[in-house]
Amino acid sequence: MSKVETQIQVKLPDGNSKTLEAGATAADLAKAIAEGLFRKSVGAVINGEPKDLYTPLKDGDEVKLLTADTDESLEFLRHSTAHVMAEAVQSLFPNAKIAIGPTIQDGFYYDFEIADHALTPSDLEAIEKKMTEIAKENQRIVRYDIPDVDAQIKEFEQQGEKFKAELLTEHRDHNPTLYLMQNKEGKTVWNDLCRGPHLPATGFIKAFKLQKVSGSYWRADENKEKLQRIYATCFWTKKDLEEHLKRLEEAEKRDHRKLAKQLDLFSVHEEVGPGLIFWHPNLATVRDTIEEYWRKEHRRRGYDFVYTPHIANESLYKISGHLENYAENMYSPMDIDGEDYRCKPMNCPGHIMIYKSKLRSYRDLPLRYAELGTVYRYERSGVLHGMLRVRGFTQDDSHIFCTPEQLKDEINGILDLIDSLMTTFGYRYKAYLSTRPEKYLGTDEQWEMATNGLEQAMKDRNMDYEVDEGGGVFYAPKIDIKLFDAIGREWQGPTIQVDLNLPNRFDVTYIGEDGNRHQAVMVHRAVLGSMERFCGGLIEHYAGRFPLWLAPTQVAVLPISDRHQERAKELALALQKKEIRAHLDDRPETIQYRIRDAQLEQTPYMLVIGDKEMEDDVVAVRHRQGGQVGTMKFEEFLEKIEKEIETKQL
Ligand SMILES: [Zn+2]
Ligand SMILES: [Zn+2]
Repeated sequence: MSKVETQIQVKLPDGNSKTLEAGATAADLAKAIAEGLFRKSVGAVINGEPKDLYTPLKDGDEVKLLTADTDESLEFLRHSTAHVMAEAVQSLFPNAKIAIGPTIQDGFYYDFEIADHALTPSDLEAIEKKMTEIAKENQRIVRYDIPDVDAQIKEFEQQGEKFKAELLTEHRDHNPTLYLMQNKEGKTVWNDLCRGPHLPATGFIKAFKLQKVSGSYWRADENKEKLQRIYATCFWTKKDLEEHLKRLEEAEKRDHRKLAKQLDLFSVHEEVGPGLIFWHPNLATVRDTIEEYWRKEHRRRGYDFVYTPHIANESLYKISGHLENYAENMYSPMDIDGEDYRCKPMNCPGHIMIYKSKLRSYRDLPLRYAELGTVYRYERSGVLHGMLRVRGFTQDDSHIFCTPEQLKDEINGILDLIDSLMTTFGYRYKAYLSTRPEKYLGTDEQWEMATNGLEQAMKDRNMDYEVDEGGGVFYAPKIDIKLFDAIGREWQGPTIQVDLNLPNRFDVTYIGEDGNRHQAVMVHRAVLGSMERFCGGLIEHYAGRFPLWLAPTQVAVLPISDRHQERAKELALALQKKEIRAHLDDRPETIQYRIRDAQLEQTPYMLVIGDKEMEDDVVAVRHRQGGQVGTMKFEEFLEKIEKEIETKQL
């Protein structure tokens, strides 16, 4: 045998090659490059697939080593830590039977059946402690191809591991593997059924936290075994873990459902039905203020406002294709004069009816219809969540009808509007362009026109964006904007779609310069999304402290005692006349108590009126966060807050 055949060559991400002995693993590759690299390596991506570090390499493989402390290798860490948790659970509860333990965002969970014992918070602490021991022991995690599947199934059954036995039976033809946990002496102390990949050893596990236990069922089937699920989060470093836990704590404080109760914002009523929102005066004021601003921004940009009915003969949704493609989200028909009518799930067909009410010429275009349109969509009750996932909501919807030549400018106009609104509310954002998917409607030329219109507009604005190749919907390329809130969480934001389907279905046309009929380009866009979702998000974004221009009550006027009441009332009225939302709080409570109340209600400004203020004809101004602002003439205060409102200061 010649020397060459005992060697293999693998390709590295930088384009270089490395020659290794035949049979070398990714670990050997790491060692051959540098001992330091080997010590940090936890796995490899081989020909695009994540694999264990000790996977043998073949000639011609493309290999990228994965080191600890990177986002890319987090999956290895979390998967391995899940097994360590299961190992710890079984060492503390020998009766525990193992089900499944997948990774999830920021961590993992694992399901167990533990007869006669419900896990408690102190159990979680004990499990954490055991996990730390296993990590410190630095057990090796070794992949093991199951040589005799039937024998292994039998073994699982004898051990009472019925779930593992069931899973292995199911995957018997997929080269099933066990992962063995081995101690320093090389003795296997525990194993689990898994396809991997995992870390090479448990010593890399340093920062995890078991969060909670909840109930689940085997195969998510209520008729099957009841299981206990432990949720955990896990990071490479203690610092990352602590930051994450802090973010969770902060997010919990900001939960819009919790703040809704504290600040009297909205409610949901079992007897009315889930997913249907009742806006209380405080939040209705916020919404009204946003809508007013929204209308103004649209008027300035040449939009026309329209209103469309909430129900329509279902023939409309036959033409639009919603009955065909969207029926599971639509409510059952209601009978009106023997015809089936439906609640509208979308505003688009309605806007098309207005467009088609007369013959349009290229001179009429672009037409920009905007509506705060209320739609009703079925969502499973399990996914409903406060104001963020509901069954009836009002979209800030708009449809633009234009010629292909006008498309780019229209998109540019929408992007400008988005930037203006999102900046006003204090969101950072990022744009994604989703292009033609594998299955699509319309011609290649149409897709090119539509996609170019979207992309060119972003390029002209020097916007940063990412391309999601093939991520468009089957009838439209689109721009999706993701928002980042005050604590860095991502929210689904504005969307823009260029529709290549509805204009065809509804025959949406205009007479061109050449005197012929042409199909109009139709753009769907929502900037705020739905008022429910947007306002729910804003509550969390601001942690309930709406900026002055949005605050339900902007100024609380507080007379110190009875003899200051008249003056206080006068000031409150003067503020109201200037359209400032002032509230006179002259309850017979101490001034400290009423100041505290106004602060708890997140009222931005308080005016305190006492003897001294009356004598000097001034007001004592307090801010909800800054405390004393100082005394000033009422006119001076008015001017100050009018400016703060006008500029929508955050
Ligand atoms: Zn695993
Ligand atoms: Zn639409």
